[in-house]
Amino acid sequence: MVKFARCNALLSLAVDASGKGCRYVAKAELEEDVIKDMTGHIQGVHQVDASEMRLNILGVTKTTRG
Ligand SMILES: [Zn+2]
Repeated sequence: MVKFARCNALLSLAVDASGKGCRYVAKAELEEDVIKDMTGHIQGVHQVDASEMRLNILGVTKTTRG
């Protein structure tokens, strides 16, 4: 079981370095790690303060098998 969250589910207008819609997906076995991964991505790539986005990230985190 893997948990994942899509960047564009959080930041619908986010674009990547080439100007296309950001397709980054944070994946981990633990929700805590998905949150950490996504927080780092949002702050590093989009320069958005993600420190208060914890609940938003949890809200778009889904679980899949393998
Ligand atoms: Zn992104």
